[in-house]
Amino acid sequence: MPLLLGCIADDFTGATDLASMLVKNGMATVQVIGVPHGALPEADAVVVALKSRTAPVGQAVAESLAAAEALLAAGAKQLFFKYCSTFDSTDEGNIGPVADALLKRLGSGFAIACPAFPANGRSIYQGHLFVGSRLLSESGMENHPLTPMRDPDLVRVLGRQTEGGVGLVPFAVVEHGAAAIRREMTRLAESGRRYAIVDAVSDAHLHAIGEAVASHALVTGGSGVAMGLPENFRRAGLLPARSDAAALPAASGLCAVVAGSCSRATLGQIGFARDHVPVLELDPLATPDAAALAAEALRWAEGKLDAARPLVVAASAPPEKVAALQAKLGRDAAGALVEHALAAVAEGLVARGVKRLVVAGGETSGAVVQRLGVRSLRIGAEIDPGVPWTFAETRFAGGAEPASIHLALKSGNFGARDFFLKAFQHV
Ligand code: ADP
Repeated sequence: MPLLLGCIADDFTGATDLASMLVKNGMATVQVIGVPHGALPEADAVVVALKSRTAPVGQAVAESLAAAEALLAAGAKQLFFKYCSTFDSTDEGNIGPVADALLKRLGSGFAIACPAFPANGRSIYQGHLFVGSRLLSESGMENHPLTPMRDPDLVRVLGRQTEGGVGLVPFAVVEHGAAAIRREMTRLAESGRRYAIVDAVSDAHLHAIGEAVASHALVTGGSGVAMGLPENFRRAGLLPARSDAAALPAASGLCAVVAGSCSRATLGQIGFARDHVPVLELDPLATPDAAALAAEALRWAEGKLDAARPLVVAASAPPEKVAALQAKLGRDAAGALVEHALAAVAEGLVARGVKRLVVAGGETSGAVVQRLGVRSLRIGAEIDPGVPWTFAETRFAGGAEPASIHLALKSGNFGARDFFLKAFQHV
């Protein structure tokens, strides 16, 4: 299976989101965690998950280039730079500088920038990004702690991050389809523009844009615009029609859920699970010690692990309890304590034979994946929008033999109320 599409994502859950989109559109896809070292796994598409969204510009550029090098060495025919559908960035970067560096590496002079994802309420009209019915700058994103978005005009926003010129392919052109979009991009490139923001308010627009960029060395955008790319490879005879892009090896063995997200959706999922399966709620305020919390959880789990239903270990707590622990330890130390505890719980459960594991929480997932020594995830079918089952190899620090595991890494606010039960009926 030759590598076709090489992707670089600026954060972990964004990478999964993109990988899931590619799988849904018929590409077998693997997500690699961090800059890859050594041979890449076999797949139609590889998504390298970086943590470069808010990293210093130089680091974001260096890591993105290193990822690009690995993808190109593996034969990638096109690169995709994935960022957030709300264009999370500052005047310093990192979208402009990373895109500039990738274009230069590829010897190319032009790329689109299209974060639109209408199905998720992100649309672009006249270069202005909307979140639902609100302009980006009135969507709440203007108050983001790290990347406040106070200007909804993406032509201006990207223009401040690059020395290259930025133009617009407007709605009226996009409406006319791929050929019209291609003509407008040629006009913009010939008039010296390096980037085009492209309007899109429907999936039909995203498919047309995807078709129009078939020959581009670099495409930049959100996961929405990636929906049109697999078809290009099929049209070129490079990608077979796959009905099995989401196929993972069969899953069996003990089930568990580890939850560190305190988001409303996760708290609801824990509440639902309590009526159906064993649930342990850890109290880090009473026991502010990661090893002791993990030991307590693993003692509790003894005799309760089952292949027919999961058990749930949660540190998740409502805002007043989180605030109490943060007041006691400081915000970062409180988060790190709970993350360490849950990573140790996950490791202990896997050592006790758990083969199917759901993790709730973005940061929590990062901590668990790192503790389990997971370097890449083969992406399977979605359980709920944005949360696929994945298949991975674990490598414990202790040097034990690699073992396989099915993982579902759930961003806090994702998933329906019955997610923790439903997930295990899906695999
Ligand atoms: P989400 O995806 O919902 O944002 P994350 O896992 O990314 O979830 O973030 C949740 C953070 O809250 C983690 O750092 C986790 O360690 C921390 N946390 C979980 N439970 C508690 C708790 N009881 N008190 C304080 N912090 C907690």
